[in-house]
Amino acid sequence: ELPTIYVITPTYPRPEQIPELTRLAQTLMNVPNIYWLVTDDTDTPNQDLIDYLTFTGIPHTYLNTPMPPKYSGHKVKPKGVANRNAGMEWLRQHASKGVIYFADDDNTYDIRLFQEMRYTEKVSMWPVGLVSNKEGLSTPVVSEGKFQGWFEGWNGGRTFLVDMAGFAVPNATMPYKPGHEEDGFLQSLHISPYDIEFKAEQCTKMYVWHTQTKKSSHQPNNIFKKKYDNTNI
Ligand code: UDP
Ligand code: MN
Repeated sequence: ELPTIYVITPTYPRPEQIPELTRLAQTLMNVPNIYWLVTDDTDTPNQDLIDYLTFTGIPHTYLNTPMPPKYSGHKVKPKGVANRNAGMEWLRQHASKGVIYFADDDNTYDIRLFQEMRYTEKVSMWPVGLVSNKEGLSTPVVSEGKFQGWFEGWNGGRTFLVDMAGFAVPNATMPYKPGHEEDGFLQSLHISPYDIEFKAEQCTKMYVWHTQTKKSSHQPNNIFKKKYDNTNI
């Protein structure tokens, strides 16, 4: 029996939401033994999304996980943080085994990535393609199977210079207090960079890209639609 991979996906209401999740869902439909936690940054359940998740047949739970209102005035918002924490809280209550992976709704995932992370013991890592920055990727630097450091444009005093899409951890080692970003989360696991299990052929293969969808500026125009009453529109 394959260990279950718990995929926690933060998402939020916007015109791109269903398209992004369609892409991700149809990747996950090709992966065995997945449990998908779709954590939606709103207190209003999205029935279209709930119906779509049912259609996919992927074992899942849909949670409403709004960002606390205290952040509404902030310029730099903790995007996806309340969602991921709520997903981890759900796991504490419902599962004790398997592997956890944080999969943002807008990234691009090769199904081989899930094969790589399934047997994580402490922490698995692999390269993440960063199509829009000059380094082009984020990865641990590995030489002869050993950790050498990080290949990343931005240091920021972190111990783990890793993208959210670039690691998986076993559910069993989940910290009681979830960290608020990659570095905080990994530090709270009490692991060192020397514990990293290098996946994707010693971090030489790219199985995930941190992609970003161009934001639409369109607003649905209900007055325009009025003249199409009693049609399919
Ligand atoms: N997200 C969210 N609420 C927000 C903005 C983003 O839940 O107000 C989610 C989003 O769906 C994604 C993750 O948080 O899964 C990271 O956000 P985004 O992709 O916008 O960040 P970026 O990749 O640009 O750093
Ligand atoms: Mn993103």
